[in-house]
Amino acid sequence: MTVHEKIKELEAKVAATVDETEATTEKIDALNELSWEVKYADARRALDLSRSAHALSEGRVYLKGMAYALRTAAACHWLFADYEAALSEALEALRLFEEVKDDFGRAHAMNVVGNVHERLGNHSIALEFHRKALQIRHDIGDTEGASTSLNNLGNVYSSFGEYAGALNNYLESLRLYEEIDNRIGISRALNNIGYIYIRLEDWDKALDHLQRALVLKQEIGDRQNEGLVLIHIGNVHESRGDYANALEYYTRGLKITQDVGDRQNEAASLNDIGNVYQELGDFQKALSYYAQSLRIAEEVGIKYYEIKALINLGAALTRLNDAREAVTHLKKALAISEEIKSNDLVYKAHQSLSEAYELLGELGSALVHHKAFHRSREQVFSEDSANKIKSVVIQSEVEKSQREAEIYRLKNVELADAYQNLRVANEQKSELVTQLRQQAEELDRQSKEDSLTMLYNRRYLDFQLAQEFSRARRFKHDLTVVMADIDNFKQINDCFSHQTGDEVIKTLGSILRESCRMIDVVARYGGEEFVLLLIETPAERAAGFCEKIRASVEQHKWSAIHPDLRVTLSMGLSDDLTVANPEALLSAADAKLYEAKRGGRNQVVWL
Ligand code: GH3
Ligand code: MG
Ligand code: MG
Repeated sequence: MTVHEKIKELEAKVAATVDETEATTEKIDALNELSWEVKYADARRALDLSRSAHALSEGRVYLKGMAYALRTAAACHWLFADYEAALSEALEALRLFEEVKDDFGRAHAMNVVGNVHERLGNHSIALEFHRKALQIRHDIGDTEGASTSLNNLGNVYSSFGEYAGALNNYLESLRLYEEIDNRIGISRALNNIGYIYIRLEDWDKALDHLQRALVLKQEIGDRQNEGLVLIHIGNVHESRGDYANALEYYTRGLKITQDVGDRQNEAASLNDIGNVYQELGDFQKALSYYAQSLRIAEEVGIKYYEIKALINLGAALTRLNDAREAVTHLKKALAISEEIKSNDLVYKAHQSLSEAYELLGELGSALVHHKAFHRSREQVFSEDSANKIKSVVIQSEVEKSQREAEIYRLKNVELADAYQNLRVANEQKSELVTQLRQQAEELDRQSKEDSLTMLYNRRYLDFQLAQEFSRARRFKHDLTVVMADIDNFKQINDCFSHQTGDEVIKTLGSILRESCRMIDVVARYGGEEFVLLLIETPAERAAGFCEKIRASVEQHKWSAIHPDLRVTLSMGLSDDLTVANPEALLSAADAKLYEAKRGGRNQVVWL
């Protein structure tokens, strides 16, 4: 929910309970809530609302309502830089909250008291109130309040030049705001971190944080602080020497601060515009802006901007050769900055004083302030501060890397899952590949095999014969082709059955396969015809081997298939490798088979 949406909702709530005669506590609570919400967008309206809430509460002696109304009024006066009014209202609110034992409200009031003391330059008192408020908020589990306290602690550290402490608190505050997704808080912390990076002269980091802050401020409609972010972005451009951009941002910032009545930042932007004119060498213009800034700062009692304006006035006057007048302003600036213990303003005052005295020819005083300038500057950028800053940066980087490690770990879990899935997929895939390979092998086998006998089929025999024929010729090996054919098979089919015939073919296949060597090729050529390729075997030796086969076929116990079954086999052999081609070799064997048939069957013919 944006601020606008929340305000609309609260306005509706207030409107729904409008009944002047019956000022219920609900109505007062709603009024108080509404005034608190609108304070950044319209502090004047917030003050009016808190006043009506206070009046209604007084009428009913509703102490809690009075306390919250005073708290808001105090915050508004703080925004208007009316610190006297802010302090008395905040302290009165604190007293009432203690009376009604409202810890949430107590921390709020302490918060405002701390903020006032911070602006008044009472840093140790400010720290004390903010720390107490932080403790209360931690205790009651008010995360939003705790992050606000951390942010305020950061402001105090920042305002006395303790940037390490400031950054530490701002970063912790940012972390908490992010945890509860509070965009006003996130943008505030980003803006403050950006400001610290400006002070540390890390322009890229500064601009990065500030631009993120600006986008958020515009999104949530936080006009009050949008002006401040614009001024800070202007600071970065100015530091980089981009004066046109700096002026543009400062002017936009100034306009908003005037619109919302933010006198503190109005003074700040006037001062910054003066700085740009000083950089551009227009000292007269610079002087007039510094004077305007000084007037506002004095009017509302903001010492920080009073000192800044005094130092800048002094520097501009020195440039305009009015060093005597400059020294007056600068001495005042030095006194107040020492009073509020603002190290960074102290060193700047010394720096300008040494320059002014130098111009006046008072070299002794110039040297005193020059040395003091170095000493106090040292203090701000001491090794101690640098180390603290370093440790904070390292700490936040460690946290970042821890977060990244966590993300990395989670990514790894994801990766592991993905890897597991991939492995399963791969396993499935390799299973599929195996299946496909098996299928292919099966198809390949089937394409070579005769299904009845499981011997090679005619197609494969033709291929093998061609290969063995050429190999035998090339290596001058022997190769005998045997053509075998079951005798009177037609009768077997006829006398017994076609099925018995199949059984006979099958059994004969087994006998042939078992009789031959592994290297020999045994094939069913068709019907009841078989072909054997006897590798590296001359016909003479093959004939003896075939004779054994013929005898074993004749002697086989065919009665297992049918009691009256008798089977014999005729074979014709050829090892004539002088023939033209493998087909001719097969024909030659077939011719011998024909001779065997003609010769009375159940015999081997090779000569
Ligand atoms: P020969 O001694 O002269 O070889 O006489 P044969 O009867 O064996 O000769 P033929 O070639 O005339 O007969 C072969 C028969 O084999 C013809 C056919 O019906 C049968 N036959 C062919 N293939 C198969 C088969 O796969 N199963 C069965 N049961 N019979 C088959
Ligand atoms: Mg036949
Ligand atoms: Mg036959």
